[in-house]
Amino acid sequence: MDKSYYDILGVSKDATQDEIKSAYKKLAFKYHPDHNPGDNAAAEKFKEINEAYQVLGDADKRAAYDNPAPNFGSGGFNFGGGNGFGFNFGGGESIFDGIFNFFGGGGNARAQGRDISVRVTLTFEEAAFGAQKEVAVSRTEPCSACGGTGAKNGTEFVKCSNCSGTGKVRYVQNTPYGQMASERVCPKCGGSGKIIKETCPKCFGKAYLRVNTTLKLTFPPLMENGQVVSVRGEGDKIKGGTPGDLQIAITVLPHKLFTRKNADLYMTYPITVMQALLGDKVKVPALKGDPLAMTIPEGTQSSTTIKLRGAGVDTGRRKGDMYVKLVVDIPKNLTREQKEKAKELSALFKDNQYESVRSFNRK
Ligand SMILES: [Zn+2]
Ligand SMILES: [Zn+2]
Repeated sequence: MDKSYYDILGVSKDATQDEIKSAYKKLAFKYHPDHNPGDNAAAEKFKEINEAYQVLGDADKRAAYDNPAPNFGSGGFNFGGGNGFGFNFGGGESIFDGIFNFFGGGGNARAQGRDISVRVTLTFEEAAFGAQKEVAVSRTEPCSACGGTGAKNGTEFVKCSNCSGTGKVRYVQNTPYGQMASERVCPKCGGSGKIIKETCPKCFGKAYLRVNTTLKLTFPPLMENGQVVSVRGEGDKIKGGTPGDLQIAITVLPHKLFTRKNADLYMTYPITVMQALLGDKVKVPALKGDPLAMTIPEGTQSSTTIKLRGAGVDTGRRKGDMYVKLVVDIPKNLTREQKEKAKELSALFKDNQYESVRSFNRK
């Protein structure tokens, strides 16, 4: 039996457009793959429903379907302009993607340009404080000379003879259950209903061009190495559709002195034995601006960490701290005289002045 689009949607031939839409919504919801995971029968049904609604949901296409000959379709439904960039009417998956667009609009699926990705390298400082960078991107855009049509001046077309300008062809198949009618995108014109008579000299009929451009982008503070940020609408552009996004993979160069965790900075700072023993006042480098005053207390143990409050990254909204790890540098290659003096000094120290050694020996 030849199942008509009306049968598929379960509406009568004289149903109003609103009735058709509401029947479609109900069925599409019921058989949506998200609600029927792994159910092939439901997926098939969902495809069928969409195919039926593509035609019946549009008053013009519906009229053409009701009166197929001699002038099937009133022409001109273009699902995003062929050439491999557009929304593919016949291609399963993309119908699922487009479904929610059908609810809102007049049955026209919006095409979506592809995302593109680039790598951007930031210095340690740029990543910490944020930066404005010029980022070179290469993306496809509709050809400016032909308005993304591929035809010379955007006008040199003739009607496709294969589909009589409708963009669709109807197949009737004989099956054990009878004749099955279905519609496909016209393979000759890719669904546009038009064939290029004279190709655009700029894009050679491809309708799209690869365009190299430079974007001025502002990176916020506290970017991390390996982070991916998305810039909406800066991907491949598509005629009559939404542009894709630009995905930026961030590489942050290491710093010679600092590491960073969020807004906090970490640094290892070597001190001499005498500084550890007697204490000192020193200046340590800051990531930005003047060196910072730091006090090394008397009797500082190796690996002691000193916190410099508020000396981390200042983003304007938050202020991190700086953690300075002190590592004692022991002098090497002592002269005989230095060794004698060191022994003399050592003899003056009492056992109870070595806290860690004493407590270790007691264990
Ligand atoms: Zn055609
Ligand atoms: Zn062109």
